[in-house]
Amino acid sequence: MRRVVDLSFPITVQDPRGTVRMVPYRTIAEHAAMITLVTFDTHVGTHLDAPAHQVAGAPTLESVDLEKCIGPAAVIDLTSKRLPHQLIEVADLEPFAEQVQTGGRLLIRTDWSDQYGQPGWTDGYPALTVESAQWLVAREIVLLGIDTPSVAPIYLSRKLMVAVHAPLLRAGVVVVESLTNLRALGRPKVTFVALPLNLVGTDGCPVRAVAVEE
Ligand SMILES: [Zn+2]
Repeated sequence: MRRVVDLSFPITVQDPRGTVRMVPYRTIAEHAAMITLVTFDTHVGTHLDAPAHQVAGAPTLESVDLEKCIGPAAVIDLTSKRLPHQLIEVADLEPFAEQVQTGGRLLIRTDWSDQYGQPGWTDGYPALTVESAQWLVAREIVLLGIDTPSVAPIYLSRKLMVAVHAPLLRAGVVVVESLTNLRALGRPKVTFVALPLNLVGTDGCPVRAVAVEE
């Protein structure tokens, strides 16, 4: 039996980033068709970072290799890191080294997503260290997903935000952030799909991320 698990947050005008607008553009009453005018920033909800997000002059969203966005992914449990201000060190990743292979995809579960939109959601979430990001790049993964607002501890410094993102983005690793519902997965290996709209020239896009369990 095939099971599709939604790993994406709904996007609504109440979104905690405060950038989402949805207004009627055409209505059934007036135009015989409903069409909505939607505005959002490119990192709202569950989203993907293109290299240009943190590396000046790097490829923009349309260059993201969709082959990387679809395929087998290992799910690793780092819920031990869900207390505030716990960074994910190389020592936390090493026990899973066998699941982190060349060409592989990695989804890090922390369950920090439970706090989505609550005060403190963007402060103190578990994030990678620079060394952890470099360790993942050295293992030549093609996609990294995490259920926190960012792979980097943006709350610590802007410098660290860039230092953690840059090695991943320069190596062409597709970064998917603000996943949710990873606890619903029953298996350590799933088929992962996260596709962005083709917003040409941009730095990222919300995605509908799903896991398929066969
Ligand atoms: Zn990011």
